[in-house]
Amino acid sequence: MPGLSPEKFDLLVIGGGITGCGVARDAAMRGLKVALFERDDFASGTSGRSSRLIHGGIRYLEQGQLHLVHESIRERQTLLRIAPHLVKPLAFTWPIYRGARVGKVKLSAGLLVYQLMAAGRSRRHLTLDAAETIAREPSLERTGLTGGAVYYDACTDDALLTVANALAARENGASIVSHTRVIDLLREKGKAIGAVVKSQYGGEAHEVRARVIVNATGVWENSFSTEERARRRRGSKGVHISVARERVGNRDAVTLISPVDGRVMFCLPAGPQAIIGTTDTWTNESPEIIHASFDDVDYLLRSANAYFPRAQLTRDDVVSAWAGIRPLATAATTNPSIVSREHSIVTDSSGVVNVTGGKLTTYRAMAAEIVDLVQRSLGQGRRHAATDSIELPGANRATEIARLQREDENLSTPLVEALPYTGAHLVYGARVEMAQTLSDLLIRRTHLAFETRDHGLGIAPRAAEIVAPLLGWNDETKSARVREYQRDVERMFGIF
Ligand SMILES: Cc1cc2nc3c(=O)[nH]c(=O)nc-3n(C[C@H](O)[C@H](O)[C@H](O)COP(=O)(O)OP(=O)(O)OC[C@H]3O[C@@H](n4cnc5c(N)ncnc54)[C@H](O)[C@@H]3O)c2cc1C
Repeated sequence: MPGLSPEKFDLLVIGGGITGCGVARDAAMRGLKVALFERDDFASGTSGRSSRLIHGGIRYLEQGQLHLVHESIRERQTLLRIAPHLVKPLAFTWPIYRGARVGKVKLSAGLLVYQLMAAGRSRRHLTLDAAETIAREPSLERTGLTGGAVYYDACTDDALLTVANALAARENGASIVSHTRVIDLLREKGKAIGAVVKSQYGGEAHEVRARVIVNATGVWENSFSTEERARRRRGSKGVHISVARERVGNRDAVTLISPVDGRVMFCLPAGPQAIIGTTDTWTNESPEIIHASFDDVDYLLRSANAYFPRAQLTRDDVVSAWAGIRPLATAATTNPSIVSREHSIVTDSSGVVNVTGGKLTTYRAMAAEIVDLVQRSLGQGRRHAATDSIELPGANRATEIARLQREDENLSTPLVEALPYTGAHLVYGARVEMAQTLSDLLIRRTHLAFETRDHGLGIAPRAAEIVAPLLGWNDETKSARVREYQRDVERMFGIF
């Protein structure tokens, strides 16, 4: 397999979501010899379907999960520091209506605790009266509005954050391989000693040996982890929709309490669009085919319309809808919204370290905990990696893309009117960000697929032309890649 040394690795990571890529970065920075295999693209699973928030978890306060809030706030500050190009502060307005489940007093007390936990590292929240709330968010429903609050969290590009960790791991010597599935584990006397891997595009299977294996496949069930499968429970399905922001009229992020079921939701700014989410319902569906249903979409529209009545959003306004499955560490309740988002790390009888749960926000701390365990298994003393102070790659991304646009006029025109993405973004994705398919480029290195009604199907052939010389595609491969993209779009953005 190209780029993969035949030697034995210290650590083999299965899964290239934020957890696997975070583990690979931390371990490689500690000097371990690391290999990571991702069956599809980095962040093609849950990590590319999040609310894109790096948040202290204000709603966990209500559940009394102070430990989780404390850790999340600390990690939010760390990510703002090590990835200022990917993690940006975001202001949230939380309007309060007469009779609301979370009233003024409860919200103020909660935000005060949130503020204190940030220990001066976050902008102070503001308490607003009704007029001030409307001045900030003029399209909010005015009837029954008694006031509100403004607080600060952060937002990110979940896929690029994941890719940045993969790139950092590679820069530190790790072998990072996408579009290659672990199809089985190699075992000796009951212990896992490596894995059998196979490229998504055919060819022979290869054996890769490693002293420790971390299974970071999130909500995926794999035949090689039967023991773990028995342990795993259902996940919680979360759906988002995007609509034109001018229809909703939100200026910043708005925190809502759904009038349908009292859950905390968000209406988030995303360039010309507003993203509304999420749902939170138990599912047994496979992450490979998880998609939004009309019921999910209607729930989100009803909730948003109650807060932004002039929008009168209907199904026709939905630009795209997509779903992910939250990996939950425990499932001891019938309501997925009150299940802890904390993680569990369990070493099974074959020595494989299985990771479940967690959040995008806390991935770095979770990765450090996992690599501590890996080093113990290797019989090594714990070495610290400065993952909390060394910047993630990608700070020069915008400059490099602008340079490509200057050098070649053909790469400077927008691929789709009114969106910022150009051919230069695709070239950069293929050259620098390990993108190999049109889905990698149009769904995850850009968000073009989320932001267009046809999900980029119209420009897919042109996109294939642009990257074909870089990825070695002939005419047959180009057509195959366009067909594959059509299938991926149906799978991810179909509503049924
Ligand atoms: C709707 C929703 C909204 C969310 N919003 C937020 C948020 O705003 N902020 C936040 O902090 N957290 C959020 N989360 C949680 C967060 O997204 C997840 O905790 C996180 O992305 C999980 O990452 P992971 O790497 O563990 O799993 P995944 O991202 O699912 O990665 C697992 C990977 O393993 C790969 N894989 C599976 N089997 C194999 C195999 N055999 N061989 C090789 N690879 C394999 C898969 O392809 C996949 O890419 C949200 C989650 C959901 C569902």
